[in-house]
Amino acid sequence: MDNKALYKISYGLYVVGSRIDGKNAGCVVDAFIQATSSPVPTVILCSIQANETNAAIKQTGEFTVSIQPTDVDPFIIANFGFQSGRDADKWANVPHKIADGLPVLEKAAAFLRCKVTDFKELSTHTAFFCEVVDAWQGEGEPLIYGDYQKGMKTAAQEAFKSYKESGKVPVKAEKWVCSVCGYVYDGEIPFEQLPEDYKCPICGQPKSVFEKQ
Ligand code: FE
Repeated sequence: MDNKALYKISYGLYVVGSRIDGKNAGCVVDAFIQATSSPVPTVILCSIQANETNAAIKQTGEFTVSIQPTDVDPFIIANFGFQSGRDADKWANVPHKIADGLPVLEKAAAFLRCKVTDFKELSTHTAFFCEVVDAWQGEGEPLIYGDYQKGMKTAAQEAFKSYKESGKVPVKAEKWVCSVCGYVYDGEIPFEQLPEDYKCPICGQPKSVFEKQ
């Protein structure tokens, strides 16, 4: 079996928010799908059993999903993906609000609130079967996990390194974004100094389509 064939299953990236023992919990997941749409939309979330968020969802029975946009600050992914909620108050590090008792990010492509109706333990993960009890729009287009791997993971790792070394949340610097596909330039060379024939590594469009944010 060629396990790499499974890499071609597409995913998004989602920040899950829940509560445990009176405090906010959260993590990043990619394994989140809509299963049915009527009479009530249902979704399935697969969450790592060892994570605090897994215990939080079991305790609370509800969670939010902030659907990550293509222009997400890489630190947000690092903050929720590279450390445990047992060691850090992840939500305190990022702009967020409380929606009917559960945390959501200030900015996301869209937001959902899910209520667990059933779950099944898999080898390493729990599959939570849920009803969507609320949903609202944010801004931007959803980030695709494969594009994160190709275009943003390095920036997330660097943001996390800076955070661990300094003990401070990194301030987001200006960034250059491909206006066609949303790729965020994260190379070593300052964007302005790149050769004029530079092309977006994701969609192949020229340097001129990049916009400073
Ligand atoms: Fe592009």
